[in-house]
Amino acid sequence: MTEIKKGKVTIVGAGSVGATLAYNLSITGGASEIALIDHNKEKAEAEIMDILHGTSLGGSRKVYSAEYDACANAEIVVITAGAKQKAGESRVELLSRNIKIVTEILDSIKSTSFKGILLVITNPVDVLTYAAWKESGYEKSRVIGSGTVLDSSRLKDFLSKTCGISPISIHGYVLGEHGDTSFPAWSLITIGGIRLLDYCPLCGKSCNIRGIIDSASDYVHKAAYKIINAKGSTYYAIAQAVSVIIHSIIKDEKRILPVTTVHENFMGLKKTAFSLPTIVGNGGAEKVINVNLTVDEQKLLFDSASFITENIAKTGY
Ligand code: NAD
Repeated sequence: MTEIKKGKVTIVGAGSVGATLAYNLSITGGASEIALIDHNKEKAEAEIMDILHGTSLGGSRKVYSAEYDACANAEIVVITAGAKQKAGESRVELLSRNIKIVTEILDSIKSTSFKGILLVITNPVDVLTYAAWKESGYEKSRVIGSGTVLDSSRLKDFLSKTCGISPISIHGYVLGEHGDTSFPAWSLITIGGIRLLDYCPLCGKSCNIRGIIDSASDYVHKAAYKIINAKGSTYYAIAQAVSVIIHSIIKDEKRILPVTTVHENFMGLKKTAFSLPTIVGNGGAEKVINVNLTVDEQKLLFDSASFITENIAKTGY
């Protein structure tokens, strides 16, 4: 049996997201080894050359382009390959194109003796995480989607600017789908350990909290569309988000992150996958935390999970 090589990350897809992730991991030293696979081999090789050309100035040199056999002993395989949104296109509109690509890639991964954690980034990430779990036959804890880690970081960026507080001192989550039905769970947001709704009267700025809530949701929902309209794709923040998930797995940090996991019985939904706060460590998605939400938030979560179920049905899984 092939032994897992501790800290080895194999990335499938050397596009904007995959290449930026490889670069991030090389710079942060979070992975012991980084393999990059793409069906456009020349592109993968060029991205690796570009990364290596900076490493005399800093960063890991254990970065190389590879074939699928590089999945066999990886601790983590990340799927970033596939079509990206065009201007104005939603994430779920990518489904018919990306389901085929991701299932083909899974066939190639399964043909190796890969035993590690599978991390799905390709959109629509929640539906594809469900499909990857079904297709792979791996345990649920081994199949994770990047989920709303990015959306939650976008929310903290918004609140940081609005409240004039470092985003590092803001905790909270966007939950549900990584997409248009996601929602910030306001009852869970804290600033410096103080519930946001208690913090606001203390801050003295006399903001309209309802207005902030609406604007924040809008900001998170429109963020990717705005970036894609202007520059074609988003990749820095998603690479940073995935790098944090990877560090938490490799170093067994047990961070609580809103990653996508499969839910087989959620409020009557048998087939769904969405983000809730989850302990992420060596074992992958080690424990999903069933947080107490308000009645309104529970409804939003159910609606979001139902939307994902409807889209899973289109895949035949
Ligand atoms: P891109 O077009 O820059 O790169 C896609 C890469 O996939 C290309 O290099 C292409 O050659 C490769 N590819 C396509 N089919 C392949 C196959 N069968 N095998 C191997 N490689 C293959 O796109 P991008 O900007 O890197 O985005 C990639 C995906 O990530 C998209 O689906 C995008 O929507 C998604 N994304 C997800 C999030 C998130 O939060 N989950 C954020 C940003 C982007």
